[in-house]
This record gives sequence, structure tokens and C-alpha cells, in this order.
Amino acid sequence: MNKKSAKTIFGPEPAKAVYDGRDAFMKGALEAVSAAFTLDAASFYEYDEKTGLLRLSLRHASGVTFEHEENLRPAPGSAAARAVETVEQTSAKGLGGSFLYSPFRFDYCDPAGGRGVIPCFGLFRLERAPRRRGFTKAEAAKADAFLRSYLRDYYKAEFFSLHRKYDKNVTAITELTEVFATALRVSESFRHILSGIQTYFGFDRVRLYLIDEKNRRLKGELSADIRGQIKSIAYEEIPLEPGAHRFADIVLGRSSGAFMERYKDCVLYMPLAVQGVTIGLLIVDNLLSQQRIEPQELAMLKSFGGQIALAVDNSRLFDKVEELSLYDELTKLPLRRYFNQRYQEEFYRAERFKQPLAMVWADIDFFKEVNDTYGHQIGDKVLKEAGRVILSNLRKIDFPCRYGGDEIIILLPQASGEEAKRLAQRLSSELAELRIPVPFSKTKELRVTLSIGVSTFPQDASTMEALLEKADDALYWVKSHGRGKIALYSEVAAEKAQAEAAGGNKDAATK
Ligand code: GH3
Ligand code: MG
Repeated sequence: MNKKSAKTIFGPEPAKAVYDGRDAFMKGALEAVSAAFTLDAASFYEYDEKTGLLRLSLRHASGVTFEHEENLRPAPGSAAARAVETVEQTSAKGLGGSFLYSPFRFDYCDPAGGRGVIPCFGLFRLERAPRRRGFTKAEAAKADAFLRSYLRDYYKAEFFSLHRKYDKNVTAITELTEVFATALRVSESFRHILSGIQTYFGFDRVRLYLIDEKNRRLKGELSADIRGQIKSIAYEEIPLEPGAHRFADIVLGRSSGAFMERYKDCVLYMPLAVQGVTIGLLIVDNLLSQQRIEPQELAMLKSFGGQIALAVDNSRLFDKVEELSLYDELTKLPLRRYFNQRYQEEFYRAERFKQPLAMVWADIDFFKEVNDTYGHQIGDKVLKEAGRVILSNLRKIDFPCRYGGDEIIILLPQASGEEAKRLAQRLSSELAELRIPVPFSKTKELRVTLSIGVSTFPQDASTMEALLEKADDALYWVKSHGRGKIALYSEVAAEKAQAEAAGGNKDAATK
């Protein structure tokens, strides 16, 4: 016998170490069987088929469970050897007392996660001291059945826990993959990626830093935390020089652990690389809760590393390309930059030739909900359709623009408020008639409405800024009065004035 160590881990005052999975089960089994069959001791051995050794790992005696490491070679022909050979219960009685050996095979989950399911062949040894009576046949059979039923329960618990883990992982994989594959613009995409990771893994905080090659800096981008806060960390700039900062060293590959680095078990640094080139650093942490980042989470996050890096890089590229373009890829509408330039020209012309100029400001109702309910791809489809409807209804001289997100503005030169309202009505009803198919949903199709505000020059405003502002005011009024309608600023202003007057009269009446 080669005795290595023996330390008490479970006793009246249990040690602090956390034992779960198989160890907790073994402890429970030893204690339960000891109590049920008034044993003096119960032990659990693992059989190593390669060396033929029985390895004692847990022993329960005198109300205390010990963790043992002790190798035992069963003597040929002994009860223990026969139990291993036949995989049947055996018994022995001698000077040392009475013994029952119950062999069993079972699979258990690696508590560290890395090795998955591990097959185990082992032996329970139940003992009674020499001065006590031995085991009857009936007792032996009962004890064997007792241990087996205990094992079955353990199986079930393990199976359910595995199933739950698996389920959670599959959901996370599908949903996160979708997140990484959809939102394209940096402004949208980073937010989605970070909050996606934060939500699915339940980390306290996720932060993204990107390399600014030109200035040789690592720049903070965004941070998403467990309270749902998403903050810019653009104020964080780290020189990309060896020794300048821990983050810089990790990104430059000068810190140990080239791919991922663990720090105090609750922080994880993950350099993001695309085709071998490091583009940034993702840092997840549980510093607030001090919860350890589990190896399974590490492995899963690692498997997402490539996708995260690609999604981040794609959006940066998308933004760069879009910067050079005048049109929005999705809606095919001109972008704000182009619009601003055109707006100046049109406003100047309207002023100079004393012509009217109408501004239409449309915003999709509950668009965020569309994204949240049906996913970003369906949201994109809605935007695309809105763009199509608008482009097919405008005159040649009209100028639309995707102003941002789900907001679209349209400049209508030489149009009065009423004319602009008619156009807005056409757009509105055409969009309302659209049925956008949504797979995997009960409703099968989606309908959307627009809220629209209209302002006109020179009636409502005398400057470019004011004209935009008044259209926005009218839109705001619609949004706060049930949505899905069109309002002229002049109507809104009149209504507001009336309401104020009525309020004033009421005040006067009550005085
Ligand atoms: P409201 O009726 O008050 O307008 O509610 P809303 O949900 O439409 O709110 P809001 O206008 O603030 O929401 C705009 C949403 O549009 C938020 C953003 O996630 C989403 N969004 C912005 N750009 C895009 C895009 O290119 N594609 C998709 N799918 N969604 C986008
Ligand atoms: Mg909206």
C-alpha cells in the first residue's frame, strides 16, 4: 500500500473547499449507506484498469468523511479482486471485520468542464468491525441495491445538469452568432456584440478596445455591464508600446498566454485577431461579484473569438466604405452628409426665389421592438422596404435621406404643407399595407406604421435649422399622441396654443 496523504475534508466542521459533482455524490452515498446499514466504515475506490490498482479517494468513518489518496493492489482471489473481475458484489469476513464490495461503472461530468464526460469504474467497500455481527445475504443485496439506486439518482441529476448546460449553450450559440452576423455599422454593431456577450455569459462587465494603427494606440471603445449600461470608454487611450501598460503587452503578445490570459480567475483578456493580425482586445470580468470565470465559459468565449473579431472588423470596414459613399447601402437613400449639402442649396434657392420648401420627418413606430422581437435581419428588411416605398413615390426634385437609425427625412422643394402632407399620407398608407413575412413567428407577418411630422418654409420657419426642428417637433407630437399619424407643424402649434388658452381659461375660471 502506498499511502500518500490523508486529510479531512468533510467533518463536523467541513473545510472551505467546494466539492460538487462526483465528490459530493460520493460523500452523500458513503454517509447514507453508513447510516442505513449501521456500518463502521464505508470507502470508495476507483479502479485504474491500466495499473490494476484500486485508488481510495473517499472514506467515511465515525461520522467523518475523509479525502484519501491511497493505492491498493487487491490480492489475487481476494473479495476485492473478485468484485472487480466479475463486476458483482462480493463479501469477506476475517480478523479485520466483515466487508462488502459493490462494484459499479458510471460516467460523470468533469467538474472543470474540459474533459467532458469521464467513464469511471469503481468499488464501494462497506465495513463492520470484528466485534460486530457480519452482513446477512439479504442485507448485502439490499446494500448493493441501495448504492445502485443512489447512482441512478446521481445519473439523473448529472443528465439534467448537462442537458441544461447544453440547452443554454445552444441558445447562446445561435443567438450570438446572429448578433455577430447582422448589425453592420460600428455604432450599432459594437453595442450589440458587447451586450450580447454580457447577457449570454452573465459577466459583470465586457469591454472592447481597438488598435489604432496610425497612432500606435489601443483605444477604448465601449463597455457593457450587468446593469445594462453601455458606456463609451473612448477616453481610454493606451500607447501601444511594450511595457507601457498590461493591455498593450497582451495585445503585442508580450504577456504570457498568447491567446487568452486569466487574471485572478475573474478577469479574462482576449486579444481579437483577424487572419493572424491583432485588431483589439476584449476584456470580460466578474470583478463586482468576484465570481470565477468557469473553464466552460472560457472555452466557449474562445470559440467565439474569431467571430467577434470578424464582426468588429467588418463593421469598421463597413463604416469606412460608407464614409466614402453618399448613399445608404440598406435603404438606397442618400446619407446625411449628402443631404446636408443638398439642403443648403435647396434652402438657398427657396429663399432666393421665394418658393416654399417642405420638410417631412418620418420615423418608424416601435422599430426597436421589431428588432427585439424578430431580429435585426427583419428590422433591416423593414428599413429596406421603407426606402423602396419612399423612392417609388417621390418626384425627381424631392430629396430623401436616411437621417439615422429608423429616421428618414424628405426635402420637398416647391411644395406646400398640404402637398407634403398628401405625399406623407401616400407613403404612410403604402407602408402600412406592406406585410413583411416573419419566419418562426406565430403572426407569420409583420406590419409597421410611420409617424410623420411636416414643416414648411417660410410658414413655420425662416432658417434651415428651424425648419428641421419644427418638423421634428411635429413628429414628436405624433409620437406622444398615439403614433401612426401625420402632423403639420402649423396644426400642432395651433392645437398647442388652443390647449394653452383652454388651460388658461380654466385657471381663470377656478380663480
Ligand atoms: P418610436 O415609436 O418611439 O420611434 O420607438 P422605436 O422603437 O422606433 O424607437 P427608436 O426610434 O429610438 O428606435 C430606433 C431603433 O432602430 C434602435 C436601433 O436599434 C434600430 N436601428 C438603427 N439602425 C438600424 C439598422 O440599420 N438596422 C436595424 N435592424 N435596426 C436599426
Ligand atoms: Mg422609431
